[in-house]
Amino acid sequence: MQLQGKNVTIVGLGRTGLALARLLKAQGAHPFVTEARSAEAVAGAAGELSALGVPCETGGHTREAFARADYIAPSPGVPPDLPVIAEAARGGARVLGEAEIAFTLCRSPILAVTGTNGKTTATEALRALIAGCGATVDLAGNNARPFSEAVLADPPPQYTVLEISSYQLETIRSFRPWIGAVLNVTPDHLARHGTIEAYAAVKARLFAHQRADDIAVLNAHDPRVAAMAPHCPGDVWWIALDQPVERGVWTDGDVICSHEGFLAHTSDVRLPGRHNLINVLAALAMTRAAGFAWDTVIEALRAFRGVEHRIEHVASRDGVDFYNDSKATNIDSLRVALASFDRPVVLIAGGQGKGASYDGLRPDVAGRVKRLITLGEDAHALEAALGEVTPAMERACDMADAVKRAVKAARPGDVVLLSPACASFDMFTDFEHRGRVFKTCVNEWIMETATS
Ligand code: ADP
Repeated sequence: MQLQGKNVTIVGLGRTGLALARLLKAQGAHPFVTEARSAEAVAGAAGELSALGVPCETGGHTREAFARADYIAPSPGVPPDLPVIAEAARGGARVLGEAEIAFTLCRSPILAVTGTNGKTTATEALRALIAGCGATVDLAGNNARPFSEAVLADPPPQYTVLEISSYQLETIRSFRPWIGAVLNVTPDHLARHGTIEAYAAVKARLFAHQRADDIAVLNAHDPRVAAMAPHCPGDVWWIALDQPVERGVWTDGDVICSHEGFLAHTSDVRLPGRHNLINVLAALAMTRAAGFAWDTVIEALRAFRGVEHRIEHVASRDGVDFYNDSKATNIDSLRVALASFDRPVVLIAGGQGKGASYDGLRPDVAGRVKRLITLGEDAHALEAALGEVTPAMERACDMADAVKRAVKAARPGDVVLLSPACASFDMFTDFEHRGRVFKTCVNEWIMETATS
């Protein structure tokens, strides 16, 4: 794609919009940014734009912003069918997402992962496995590092691992990963995509431009993902739990196998939970499909400890294991976390609710949670829903208090789990902040008891 001298209107001044403006500038294009939020709300990013010499409007999208655009690049959070974008597209401008533009400038082979859940874990695992095999690898996409920023790396890494969201897939035109994986498709983002079928169709776009020598990695257990197989132009590798597949990676009891034979034990995966096994199997299949040798891959697997805030092991003390699952901001995530343990759990949960009922959690909590410690705005709602199935319950006033109460309740063999099932904004800046505070409280308690 020839970007030199082209007018590109970027819609949305987030991290991605800013990175794209920088990339376009480096390519000799003329980016212009239009942002719906006020100048005050985006002051930091607007300052960076101005230092780059990129003009910008805030507080709404004017028609003039699109009047001379050759290309329009909506940020992932901006619906590409926004009326002002649709009108400009009718006038001849091409709508291309950031992932598409960055793709045309990417100089290393791409391994991309999408799915409703598990993208971060699978891509972090993939990065760790590739790096463990001695290759240079960059991780970017729908995470802290925009793809547009990654493609500016000089020299380029040998491999680029991308986390790709459905929003990004909506605006691709030629984007083509060498190896692509879809982990799962479950109801989410339906406000944007309309129906689950439309959402699955967007996820399937990951393979739309692949060729015969490319590879698709598919989760055999998810019918919406499995249904993509006949439409994949290249080889299909399957991942599955307790079910052999023709080509790919699967578990058989406590061993992990591939069509090439025994690979490892499930205990070599240090991440708790069957959901994480699927994420790791995807990373294993992708690494092998990329040509890395199994022995180095498995060695790297043993060293991979998972991702911060996702059932992250924090510490062990007196036979009690502490886990930080602050990323669990909804009910499904708490469910998945509880299913990851076959030991009694002292659960710290609560925060800013999302309006969903907690009643559905009763079967997951019953018999597993020995004490529920509630926190934040939705403490009462959780207590009301789960009181009957929890042997003991208490309310904490803050995280330090919650940890203190949890420590008191836990016995050797128990797990203390922070998995809030709620957003964090009532008490913390974000879920990362909440997780860090939890870890600090746990570690402080350990230090105190070690010296006393
Ligand atoms: P994403 O980047 O797609 O949000 P993460 O790896 O950050 O995925 O995981 C987010 C949450 O999704 C986890 O805390 C867990 O509750 C849930 N999760 C992760 N992997 C899976 C999976 N394979 N299937 C179902 N749920 C999962």
